[in-house]
Amino acid sequence: MAQTTIKVFAEQIGIDAEKLLAQLSEAGIAGKKVDDSLSDEEKMALLSFLRGDAGSQQRRSRVTLKQRKTSELKISSRTGSARTVQVQVKKKRTFVKRTAVEEAEQKEAEEKARLQAIEEEKKKQAEEQARLAREAEEKAREEEERAKREAEQAAAQEAALKAQAEAQAVEKQPSSPRAEKKAEPSRKKATPEPKSADKKRKRRGQGGEQRLHLRAGQRGRRAGGFAKRTVKTSLQDHAFEKPVAPIVRNVAIPETISVGDLAAAMHVKAAEVIKTLMGMGFMATINQMLDRDTATLVVEEMGHVAKEAAPDTPESLLEAEELQGEAVPRPPVVTVMGHVDHGKTSLLDYIRKAKVAGGEAGGITQHIGAYNVQTSHGAITFLDTPGHEAFSAMRARGAKVTDIVVLIVAADDGVKPQTIEAIKHARDAQAPMVVAINKIDRPEADPERIKTELVAQEVVPEDWGGDVQFVPISAKTGEGIEDLLESLSLLAEVLELKAVAQGPARGMVVEARLDKGRGAVATILVQEGELQRGDVILAGREWGRVRAMRDDAGETVKTAGPSIPVEVQGLSGVPMAGDSVMVVSDERKARQVAEYRHAQYKEQKAASQQASKLDSLFQRMEQGETKSLKLLIKGDVHGSVEALTESLGKLSTDEVKVNVVHAMVGGINESDINLAMASDALIIGFNVRADGGAKKLAEKEGVEIRYYSVIYDVVNDVSDALAGMLDPLFKEEIIGLAEVRDVFKAPKLGQIAGCMVLEGVVRKDAPIRVLRDNIVIFEGALESLRRYKDDVQEVKSGTECGIGVKDYNDVQPGDQIEVFEKTQVKRKL
Ligand code: GDP
Repeated sequence: MAQTTIKVFAEQIGIDAEKLLAQLSEAGIAGKKVDDSLSDEEKMALLSFLRGDAGSQQRRSRVTLKQRKTSELKISSRTGSARTVQVQVKKKRTFVKRTAVEEAEQKEAEEKARLQAIEEEKKKQAEEQARLAREAEEKAREEEERAKREAEQAAAQEAALKAQAEAQAVEKQPSSPRAEKKAEPSRKKATPEPKSADKKRKRRGQGGEQRLHLRAGQRGRRAGGFAKRTVKTSLQDHAFEKPVAPIVRNVAIPETISVGDLAAAMHVKAAEVIKTLMGMGFMATINQMLDRDTATLVVEEMGHVAKEAAPDTPESLLEAEELQGEAVPRPPVVTVMGHVDHGKTSLLDYIRKAKVAGGEAGGITQHIGAYNVQTSHGAITFLDTPGHEAFSAMRARGAKVTDIVVLIVAADDGVKPQTIEAIKHARDAQAPMVVAINKIDRPEADPERIKTELVAQEVVPEDWGGDVQFVPISAKTGEGIEDLLESLSLLAEVLELKAVAQGPARGMVVEARLDKGRGAVATILVQEGELQRGDVILAGREWGRVRAMRDDAGETVKTAGPSIPVEVQGLSGVPMAGDSVMVVSDERKARQVAEYRHAQYKEQKAASQQASKLDSLFQRMEQGETKSLKLLIKGDVHGSVEALTESLGKLSTDEVKVNVVHAMVGGINESDINLAMASDALIIGFNVRADGGAKKLAEKEGVEIRYYSVIYDVVNDVSDALAGMLDPLFKEEIIGLAEVRDVFKAPKLGQIAGCMVLEGVVRKDAPIRVLRDNIVIFEGALESLRRYKDDVQEVKSGTECGIGVKDYNDVQPGDQIEVFEKTQVKRKL
């Protein structure tokens, strides 16, 4: 759109026309009137001015499409309230036509990148050559090593026997039973150690426990991961093995290490290590696995320094399988979001029917959660799991799958809460948006109104100077859908989406379920590399060999490249949407990692439950000292869960503590209720709700669930709740003062003080203090209060009365009796 008038533009961006005029003249566009037209150049100049970066406009790069934060301005509106408006001024589709400056810059950058690429290529070639040479060398060595190891082992056994005989002779220890247990893990033996500090022994015990569940896996890992490296070191070592002065080495020790590897790491023969172990009372073979504590003892015993190696989780092993290769363009991955009933499903269905499987109407039987369509401008992949939950769930799991969000708004309805939520999601994910104004076939459709409403949400259409493409469509008649696809393709082009298309695939689980006949089936969106039938994959905590693979049209396929969704069979279980998927070359490794993740997950779950149970136990023990408000927080995204946990934690004081027993992303389910019950916690649902089962259980068990959508509200409420838990605070108010004039004894009542009330009132049932020279000498209550011979409840100032103090018989003339009241005060944190 070429031009608008100042008045119209001012209305669009929601500021006063006069104010806009003033800003324009400050920006160097003077002499305008409200009805004058405003060109795009002038809008641009204004924006530059408002941003305070006059002149830098030309340099704006395409990044603006993703990074929209910079383009907000605060403008005070007619009503006086300040508002933030997105005023990105861009020509229609500027992003495909580059300005001269951009082009020059681009060229320069490209040239740089090219040179860099050449450099890298050279480096790579050199590396490759070196690698080949190394491999050849290693192969030879491996052969040699195998022979050597066998010989070594024989020698070691011999040495072992010898040493054992020696040990028997010298130490006279009952060592024969030990010898029989040769194959057993050495750590269990509580025989004396040369350096038998208690601490060490204790450490060893702990290490042994840790090892139990990891051991099997790690033994295998060694074989897969460390073998080559260690072979090399131990052999290099042989070359230099002539007598040298003792060198103290730093030895990094993983959680478990074999005797052979430990020897290699210390640059000594395995037999030496075996001898040392034997000296410490352990019988070991070259392949025996040692836990870290035992290995540490050995290393120290042999005069070296032991260090803990960085934890080598199975995950770190997988890093070795990085993809290398040239990135090539890939289709964009698009998610449709919008308010309920605005037409998400209809749009996706329409596109599917029209585009998938070459447009064969009715030929679609599959519904796998994602599909790839061909358009005249290239392919596009749609995630067919509409719903913001799916989107945020995936994001919460750290998965950024969506490149572009289609925001669908019904032209006959307008911007609704979920529309706003969708905008927020898209922004959080830094995914650029294309707006589809749907249902334009309806008579009530008012696309212009939608535009205005969206501008209020800072989603500004291109023809209004913004950077968001608005496409009017009808998911019913199909009108405009071709344009929408074109817009998506254009935007994708600008985003320059690329991925390496060769090599082992990586991807993401889009959907997964248990199929009665086929077992676990998962839709995987390949993100890079190529997924092939027969590949061994790891998907979250599950693994398996891809037995069958189908595309979105139900056709069997053998391979799938970047941005292509496929449904695979063959996984060990059902992974979760958002789980990352990778091809692992080694089947055993895949299983190991999956098992490790399963174990970790179980441990975590158990640990957090255990912790909360323990905690509540401790809390009960401590009761009376510190009070704590226990909370279980469930939120929509990690960010809010973390923010809540942190800000609520800060509310703790010495007297009352906030104790977050569990905080996690996701809806509230029955296990949350159980946990809350076990730990006596209150559940906070932040932008999440309880499912049916959880609701019932919560009602039954009396677990309180509170829902929030604003962090501030949570903090306020929790703060109030904590205040309610504080010990009551009493405020004291003196309500009367009487002076003792005379003291006498009454036969039945004991000592009576004849008083004059000086101030306020004296009340029979109010607590009192006796003061002498303004010092409190007694605090208590009244036994009797009389006017003449009558018992009264209250005596006012300026009146005489007789006061009997309960349990106190030492009142003297001149003392004062102070009457006070205690009132409970509402406490605040
Ligand atoms: P969702 O909740 O966003 O998935 O919305 P649906 O796709 O289920 O659509 C809600 C209703 O709007 C359905 O009755 C559709 O038939 C209707 N609808 C969707 N798109 C259009 C359209 O472009 N024109 C008309 N007239 N109706 C539509």
